[in-house]
Amino acid sequence: METVIDLSLLDVPRPSATDPGTLRVTVSGGGPVGLAFALALDEMLPGRAAVTVYDGRWTRKGSSVVWKDETQGNFRRQQVVTVQSRQYLALPEEVLSALFDDGAAYSEMWPVGPDSVDGRPPRNIRIAHIEDRLLELANRKPSIRLVPKRFDVAEEQGRITREHVLAVAEGGRSRTREHYADRFGAADASIYSLDGEHLQDVVLGLRVTSKLPDPMSVLLTVSQNRFLLNSLRGEGFLNMRLTREEARNVIGIDPVRHVFEECIAARPCLMSRQEEDNEFRCPTHGTLFLPALLRGSPLWKEIRQGLSLFGVAEEDLSAITSFRLDMVQRPRFTAQLHRPTTTTPGTYGFLLGDAANAIHFWPGRGLNSGLASATSLARSLSRAWRGKPLRDADFIRHEAAMSMLQYRHKSRAWNAMVTTDEQGITHAIKDIIARSAEASADASAAASADASRGASPGAADSSDLDALLDRMAGIRERLAPRMPGLPGDAELRSHLASIPPATLRTLRESGAWDTLIVGGEEADIDLFYQSDSPVFVPRPSDPGPSDPRPSDPRSPSAVG
Ligand SMILES: Cc1cc2nc3c(=O)[nH]c(=O)nc-3n(C[C@H](O)[C@H](O)[C@H](O)COP(=O)(O)OP(=O)(O)OC[C@H]3O[C@@H](n4cnc5c(N)ncnc54)[C@H](O)[C@@H]3O)c2cc1C
Repeated sequence: METVIDLSLLDVPRPSATDPGTLRVTVSGGGPVGLAFALALDEMLPGRAAVTVYDGRWTRKGSSVVWKDETQGNFRRQQVVTVQSRQYLALPEEVLSALFDDGAAYSEMWPVGPDSVDGRPPRNIRIAHIEDRLLELANRKPSIRLVPKRFDVAEEQGRITREHVLAVAEGGRSRTREHYADRFGAADASIYSLDGEHLQDVVLGLRVTSKLPDPMSVLLTVSQNRFLLNSLRGEGFLNMRLTREEARNVIGIDPVRHVFEECIAARPCLMSRQEEDNEFRCPTHGTLFLPALLRGSPLWKEIRQGLSLFGVAEEDLSAITSFRLDMVQRPRFTAQLHRPTTTTPGTYGFLLGDAANAIHFWPGRGLNSGLASATSLARSLSRAWRGKPLRDADFIRHEAAMSMLQYRHKSRAWNAMVTTDEQGITHAIKDIIARSAEASADASAAASADASRGASPGAADSSDLDALLDRMAGIRERLAPRMPGLPGDAELRSHLASIPPATLRTLRESGAWDTLIVGGEEADIDLFYQSDSPVFVPRPSDPGPSDPRPSDPRSPSAVG
């Protein structure tokens, strides 16, 4: 019988940092991207890289490093993310098994699309599960040193100059990136602005359990732009895109001091349901979510319509948070931070993940882009590293890959924030939603006035329902070959029957996911790594244009 030895359990020494053949790498930020990068590099340069990863959300437990919990001030992120097969199949085998060996940890809610490789669909998985599994794996790697501490770039200058690489994977609000603003350049908000205003969406994140089957949720989600449900077997977040007015009403109230607090709006905190009816309390600040207390508030009414649309009983809304989403264009992702001296090797800095490209999450590509950036840098380093100082030319492929990721994913995400009318004027989708709600309020005021005069009500309501049903039927036709179990007309009609006319109108006017504009070829970093790679063996190439793959709503190019 063959004996399999788990090498990670042996006392394999860490590659010596003083050995000139060892690539010295510091990673600041051990979220999913920082850890995925460390593990990919470990696989591609076995025994030849010494990687040190810092994260302030970790703590030491015995001989391991683990995630801090709530009592230590770390509220783990709860969102379910969609990872495309192009990304998960590019992960090291060991990482792939760690993430997906437990079939209960993921689901395949979305159908295959242009970012699907080998016909494998995207997978929904909790971000906390990704972080847990990657950290466990990293703990077992002798070449990876985990430091449970915030990385302070000013304090660590001496150390950085002795490293070959500093990979910055600190997420969207990276301090280290700002510290090196003179190397990475200034971000440009103008491209993602309308009429000079840097566009920001505020999205309410409602933690829910939905009773709807996935095909129904997918169809409802891609048919409009107000609500988005992404879940793992019904459990996840129902996201609601807010108007400006609604965003101003996302506010907490301190029940003792009777003052309004912006904690859910600004920080933002996760407010969890309490025993008392309709109380959602922030565990950090003790505040209560005000719109839920004011039962008649327009925002709370809209939230309830969203719950009803996605088959969520009110008591199955367990927590509320909010996300502020805007985007900037970054000029570069690779920079020489320190030149070589007689005593130091020269240090290259890289922005990875959200620190490089924070992307509006509606089309679900932030983590995908981050994982691709991690894989790309690991490939570039593994092919370049010969124990000699690194050079600018070593990273042309990586920088090109980063540019491609930024262009493709931010263009798509921008088209999930705005829409262009028949006159060619571009509007923020949140403003279209606001206008629709105002028009409905005016119409209902006029209808009550008519009713009080004895006039009969207008026919606008059924036309909104019919238009929505027509739209859903069209989308269903395109999705059906890849997604069994989509609801028929009668089921949809009866499901929508309980939704009030004003909400139906908003759903209709918010538009379906715009797939014609955002469809087409996906960002594939393999393009840059197909030749001369001494370490990485590319996968067989994906089907080309003569073998068109069907589209994927979370691209989203199957609808509209
Ligand atoms: C509601 C929601 C839904 C989403 N859905 C999807 C989806 O469906 N598909 C998808 O692809 N993406 C999705 N995303 C985006 C995805 O979550 C992010 O792109 C991803 O988490 C980015 O990973 P990251 O490692 O780059 O950054 P982060 O996850 O932000 O991790 C950064 C890490 O760096 C640490 N850190 C920060 N500063 C320091 C420092 N100075 N020193 C040490 N450590 C530091 C932090 O503690 C953290 O652990 C979604 C995001 C949201 C909010």
